[in-house]
Amino acid sequence: MLDAQGRSITYLRISITDRCNFRCLYCMPEHGLPWLPKADILTYEEIAEVVRQLAPAGVRRLRITGGEPTIRPQLETLIGMLTAVPGIEDVALSTNGVTLVEKAAGYKAAGLDRVNMSSDSLRADRIAAIARRDLGFDPIAALTAAERAGLEPVKVNVVLMRGTNDDEIEDYARLTRDHPWHVRFIELMPVGELKDLEWRHIVPSAEVLERCDQALGGLEPAGEGKPEGNGPAAYYRSPGAAGTIGVITPMTHSYCGDCNRVRLTADGRLRTCLFGTHEVGFREPLRRGELLLPIFKQALAEKPPEHHLLQQQVGGLSALSQVGG
Ligand code: SAM
Repeated sequence: MLDAQGRSITYLRISITDRCNFRCLYCMPEHGLPWLPKADILTYEEIAEVVRQLAPAGVRRLRITGGEPTIRPQLETLIGMLTAVPGIEDVALSTNGVTLVEKAAGYKAAGLDRVNMSSDSLRADRIAAIARRDLGFDPIAALTAAERAGLEPVKVNVVLMRGTNDDEIEDYARLTRDHPWHVRFIELMPVGELKDLEWRHIVPSAEVLERCDQALGGLEPAGEGKPEGNGPAAYYRSPGAAGTIGVITPMTHSYCGDCNRVRLTADGRLRTCLFGTHEVGFREPLRRGELLLPIFKQALAEKPPEHHLLQQQVGGLSALSQVGG
């Protein structure tokens, strides 16, 4: 289905919880946020029903996100329900990776296609400092588990913060030589804890690519070798490398013109723009047994042409954990 700008909307990001077991410096406050009441959160059956009703309108690809989606019990059940919906071609998961060593194979068996893991450092002590939680997390073991389970392409999201983790750019770049992993550097965005973010905290993608180029002795556009996905990342690879390097640049580039997505919050609001204020409620119509398709059509007709992140307008968000990024 096309929106008012003629953009084809095929991708639904589904947040299944607003809670997280991390408290990343740039996302949620250390003491957490006021959590959604349980009764307001869509059940797995309700989430699957939303997908069943939107698939005939052209929604083909799904991402399960949060908060941290893997802390919601029996995630495998939801994965199975979503992959069974006729018309759904791809179901991916965004996670901080904490459960992957134990559960990657189970997610795959339930039908999950692939995983994006967020990891802002390769060093255990630094991960704990950025996440403000020490869960003994080993990112290399988690990525290896995802790869072994066949949750490919395996992508790693790294939010760069000047002076905090930007000294690891080269280490991440070198990982792509031998591993078929796709490292994506994301520019820090001024949301929540970072409302007063200054440009000096952001590491622009041009610098990231130059440093990767130096570390690997050359980079070229990944072209046909870029990993399958739905997003705005631009991919590069070192000739002969197993993996790629991507940059996601919300602060230095605009890609709203190619936007293909809408978001469902854990409490059943459809948000048509990550940083826009436009949203419609699905939960009450769903619970009254009404059809969602007319509401969806109207929402797409009203989807904003672009966001205004650079003017520090973040659509009422206190943290990206509230909509799943
Ligand atoms: N918990 C899951 C995870 O870790 O991927 C999914 C939700 S998390 C909110 C989604 C992504 O948003 C993560 O990669 C996180 O690093 C990113 N994120 C959160 N706040 C951000 C900010 N202010 N700027 C840039 N990225 C941010």
